[in-house]
Amino acid sequence: MNTEKQLKEAAEPDIFGSEQMRKPAPDKFIPEHKTPASIAYQMVKDETFPQTQPRLNLATFVTTYMDDYGTRLMNESVGINYIDETEYPRVAVMCGRCINMVANMWHSPEEADWKTGAVGIGSSEACMLGGVAAWLRWRERRKAQGKPLDKPNLVMSTAYQVVWEKFCQLWQIEMRTVPLTLEHPTLDIEKAIGMCDENTICIVPIAGVTWTGMNDDIQALDAALEEFNAKTGYDIPIHVDAASGGFILPFLNPDKVWDFRLKWVLSISTSGHKYGLVYPGLGWVVWKDRKYLPGDMSFSVNYLGANISQVGLNFSRPAAQILAQYYNFIHLGMEGYREIHSNSMEIARYCHDAIGKMPCFENYSKDLDNPLFIWYMKPEYDKKANWTLFDLQDKLMQSGWMVPAYTMPKNIEDMTVMRVVVRQGMSRDMADMLIEDIRNAVAELDKLEYPTPTRQAALKAEKQKGKVYTH
Ligand SMILES: *Cc1c(COP(=O)(O)O)cnc(C)c1O
Repeated sequence: MNTEKQLKEAAEPDIFGSEQMRKPAPDKFIPEHKTPASIAYQMVKDETFPQTQPRLNLATFVTTYMDDYGTRLMNESVGINYIDETEYPRVAVMCGRCINMVANMWHSPEEADWKTGAVGIGSSEACMLGGVAAWLRWRERRKAQGKPLDKPNLVMSTAYQVVWEKFCQLWQIEMRTVPLTLEHPTLDIEKAIGMCDENTICIVPIAGVTWTGMNDDIQALDAALEEFNAKTGYDIPIHVDAASGGFILPFLNPDKVWDFRLKWVLSISTSGHKYGLVYPGLGWVVWKDRKYLPGDMSFSVNYLGANISQVGLNFSRPAAQILAQYYNFIHLGMEGYREIHSNSMEIARYCHDAIGKMPCFENYSKDLDNPLFIWYMKPEYDKKANWTLFDLQDKLMQSGWMVPAYTMPKNIEDMTVMRVVVRQGMSRDMADMLIEDIRNAVAELDKLEYPTPTRQAALKAEKQKGKVYTH
């Protein structure tokens, strides 16, 4: 005979009738006692319950849609640690194959069977590795010349992604930034070259600038650098931060020369989890040749049938993304990537066009380099509106859209813009819903009789600068 207590314990807990559901969730100490798995699961799951649908998040560049097979492969390999190569040697082989495919997609001239590159958690790790390699190469050169190595610097535009700030802080490298201006919405090459000297470890142009969606002109930079290096005797190279562009240009703009076809481009990084179409986190970095990867950064491994180098900041990392990337390469092929990204581009152009036609907005650029764009409020409209783009961001959130408003980098920080990133998972129908929601939100905001708090703050800032608008 079971006691009443035993029967009660054996019964599946009634989740929402449980004690845990009427108590605050643990937030400081590991609870002393156990919680049934079904209740613990529900509690964790519900933490994410009020979040928006990932595919309505037009702020992120990172993959929010994968097909069933890709998702299945990732779920099935969720327990695999990439670094355990003796246990999972085929993961390392797949990783090497992915590096080969990425390197060849960027026209690597390297003749070895296994190209020189590395996998990372994202572009951040990949940028770090590219940056460290450039720094170590510069150190070697300076040492050989008997010159001091205490003042390295790096040159890029103020539209850098935050990883470069981290890189420069962590390795104590001086960051020299070329301001973005309205006349020069991408890297001003003349100014960039003007900032270079014997201590410059590399210049970092961006393919797919996070702030604007545009591409720096890497071919022109390479030509300018060729002239400058010849004149000065320096060897300043280029690392391309192609977090988005690395997986867009080869498909949508294959004739554009921005990669290893250029003389001074010695390394390129990209995010497999952006337009490589893999769920986070995955990044790739490739060097033009083995000789550009300093020996002390690479650790030899021989399981690929040859000695190849393994490089990374992390040791353990999930393998699932590598399987998914390899799956995407096989399944989609060049053709599939081209189709998906062309669709994203067409939908982005459609939104760009529709937003540009609205009386209150102006697009930042006439055409699109990548399937993302920014826009701002027309100055004459800005003068009389009782709202700002920050209010529009809030309003769109009410229909589930995440469309970020932000101020531009240093030098044009007075400018507030709004950005839409189109990725796989956004259809023309969804774009129509978005445009309709923007129109409705603007109509509502235009009815406001008094300035919103963000508008009041903007007015106050304007007044302090001596420009007074009548309201
Ligand atoms: C996203 C991005 C990064 C950082 O990449 P993660 O993959 O998120 O680590 C670096 N640079 C640029 C230009 C980016 O767009």
